[in-house]
Amino acid sequence: MRVRTTMLAAGAVALVAVVAGAVTLSVLWSAPIRPSSSGSAETTQTLGASEATAFPGIAAADQASALVALPVRPLAETPRRAFSASAAMAHVRVLEAFGVRAGGSEAEKQAALYIRDQLVALGLNARIEEFPLPNGGTSRNVVARVKGYSDTVLVLGAHMDTKPPSPGANDNASGCAALLELAARLAEDPVVPTVEIVFFGSEEIIGGDPDAHHFGSRYRVSQMSAAERANCAGMISVDMIGYGPDFHSRSAGRAPLTVSDGVLAKARALGYTMTFKKDTSSYGMSDHEAYEKAGIPAAVVCWRDDPVYHTAEDTSGHLSEAKIRAAGTVVLEYARGLGETELAALTAR
Ligand SMILES: [Zn+2]
Repeated sequence: MRVRTTMLAAGAVALVAVVAGAVTLSVLWSAPIRPSSSGSAETTQTLGASEATAFPGIAAADQASALVALPVRPLAETPRRAFSASAAMAHVRVLEAFGVRAGGSEAEKQAALYIRDQLVALGLNARIEEFPLPNGGTSRNVVARVKGYSDTVLVLGAHMDTKPPSPGANDNASGCAALLELAARLAEDPVVPTVEIVFFGSEEIIGGDPDAHHFGSRYRVSQMSAAERANCAGMISVDMIGYGPDFHSRSAGRAPLTVSDGVLAKARALGYTMTFKKDTSSYGMSDHEAYEKAGIPAAVVCWRDDPVYHTAEDTSGHLSEAKIRAAGTVVLEYARGLGETELAALTAR
């Protein structure tokens, strides 16, 4: 009975594929097909409810699961949508309005819920991961994945918290906003790697110990198994991308510099002047630190220096959309440029 149901479902898939293909080709008649191992917005739009229920002998669940796998996605020739800095700036203003978002605070939690809701609205299965702080508080990460054509993972991250008394428009609503815009572009147009998008809680130092920071990223990495770490091609933290004269990829050099080198090469190819800068603090400069310590190639993309960071003056009025566009575009095009060959090279370590 189980075999028979499967065969019927397979038949339905073939029939629906023909229908879907006809519909797609009638709209995009000149477009070749970009193979996809995941669902896509186009698939969902093409296969409406009437088609999904066109086979009364097949359970709806069988039809739905089969439909998701259909490779009807267009195509390499369709221009991929660019990173929108104005969309990112809209998120910056919302996050800034939550006020000072100290690690473990109610404002940090509200920012996390806003971000979670934005990811869910994109159709992503976002989850909140709570973790304890040494001062007795609780902070949280927001984690979502965009399935790629490969199971190898690229992590993109940005921290949500701010250093009081700062509302943290540049540090780091700018990075969170860019990550939300990246999530939107990736969700509608997946890339080869599976992209794990992490909004970290509690990156900033709490108390007087200069090493008492990066709590969200350290927690996230602590939850990764050895197999997950080995399958992680790299990590990019996006932190403070809205102000300053110098565009950098930074790392402490604790892990291979392959991701940083790739980001720098992509920036050059796009016409941006971006340089490598080694982290000056032995405690690390952003959330890439925990990944680097786990041996994963990692870097932080940033513009420096911002004289008002960690002050009440870090508001959205002093940010540059052009700088946010540069950082977002470099990260997006770096992810789009990773094929199976590049992923194999990044995980061979
Ligand atoms: Zn920061």
